[in-house]
Amino acid sequence: MSSTTARSPQQYEESYEAYYAEAAEELRAVRVGEKETSKQAAIVARHADLFTREQLDVLRAAESGTSDDGERERLYRLRRACESGIVDAELAAREDELENALLAARLTFDGDELPLNSAEAMLAVLPDYAKREQLGALARELDASFDVSRRELLVARDGLEAELSGERDAVARNEAEKQISLRELESVLRRAADDAGDEYARLRDRWFERLLGPGRGALPSSAHLRWLRRLSPLESTYPKARSVEICVETVRALGFELEAIPNIRLDLEDRPQKIPRACVVAADPPDVVHLITRAQGGLSDYQAFLHEAGHALHYAGCDPRLPWTFRALSRDHALTEIYSYIVEAVTKEPGWHALHFGLSEMEAEENAEATRFLEVLLYRRYAAKLRYELGFWEAFPAERGESSRDYAPLLTKATGLAYDPRGHLSDMDAGFYSADYLRAWIRSAQLRTYLRREVGDDWWRSSATGEILAGLFAEGTRPSTEDIARRLGFDPLDTTPLVTELTGT
Ligand SMILES: [Zn+2]
Repeated sequence: MSSTTARSPQQYEESYEAYYAEAAEELRAVRVGEKETSKQAAIVARHADLFTREQLDVLRAAESGTSDDGERERLYRLRRACESGIVDAELAAREDELENALLAARLTFDGDELPLNSAEAMLAVLPDYAKREQLGALARELDASFDVSRRELLVARDGLEAELSGERDAVARNEAEKQISLRELESVLRRAADDAGDEYARLRDRWFERLLGPGRGALPSSAHLRWLRRLSPLESTYPKARSVEICVETVRALGFELEAIPNIRLDLEDRPQKIPRACVVAADPPDVVHLITRAQGGLSDYQAFLHEAGHALHYAGCDPRLPWTFRALSRDHALTEIYSYIVEAVTKEPGWHALHFGLSEMEAEENAEATRFLEVLLYRRYAAKLRYELGFWEAFPAERGESSRDYAPLLTKATGLAYDPRGHLSDMDAGFYSADYLRAWIRSAQLRTYLRREVGDDWWRSSATGEILAGLFAEGTRPSTEDIARRLGFDPLDTTPLVTELTGT
């Protein structure tokens, strides 16, 4: 391509928006099980002129040539989108190949052939402890058979990102993008995980007994995580059939009429290839936002739905007058996860359990404690993941991802579930997503403290909460999670509210 065809930043934003919507639609179709194969590579190829080094130079020059902070931030995000696009264009065919091989992968369990996605979904609902161990081992083995491809892709991606950014160190690259110190964050998080250690031991003994039964092994495998998350023995209290209605009502109490927001498109259907994990695909915020869930029964349906509702309300609630970049692109996911966490946090309120499920005060307290058990479990799991991932990427130039390092010991110690070292690649999201979740954990606890102070203890059913949230949603993806902390009057690394929440004190 000649230099005359590289776009100006304004033209670039418009063309990129069209590409983004198309790629999001493909992602949606695969995730909901409408399509059996992913064709991202073809979409990237159709928009290949967006992803050239020449275009990157134009964006970079504009970025360093502006003195306006907002404009520089917008150009930074467009430039990073271009960089990632160049990487994706080079890797899309191989990534599609891996994705499609995963979709086609089958295992045999109890005489039935199961896609890997269905096996993962089944782990949440199989009532028999030994069968879960068995299916979990089969799924782990099949999943690990893709590790060679995963590792090759990691090496290729790291090489390209290093070359385009000029920064060889993966940790430093991510720190620059997130504008934080990952190591400082990790040490603060580790302290909070330790502070919640005694309480976790108490909760774990109590809830493993309730949820896994007395016949469990001394160290149950991580295959039980989905079963634990679903709080399956409490299933009859939280029926599948009522989850949408109650979640819509829960969100309504906060002042949001979910079904009356035409921009939010709900996909609640059950399809065999639909991924078991709920998600939001914000194809064109605020106008087109897909909320996708696959209900299986149990409290986790409610939690997953409310979590994704938080994302959907954020994207559908952003000010349409913002430049597209500040409606759709962010440096990381730490901002939008605050809003998913805070809406999901309603399920930690005993009053919510009493209100919707006809429980006595004591039963409601008990079930709310179950949600706290899960939260501490997941928090400690993520804090351990971040610690492992930092070591993994520090050693990456020498090890090239060959070693599972301390993945299994760290996660096993943090959770009390036995992690298999072979999960060390598939249990890792790109770009230190774990750090984004963990920042959102700190922030949503701060936000909850703020809401309790400003709105009161019934923040979880007050439209005053919705008003505060709507003000934050309107800002789109522009602020950082650290900006939000300061606006709420907290230091970004203040984990006092988080530890209070985890320990129930
Ligand atoms: Zn989320």
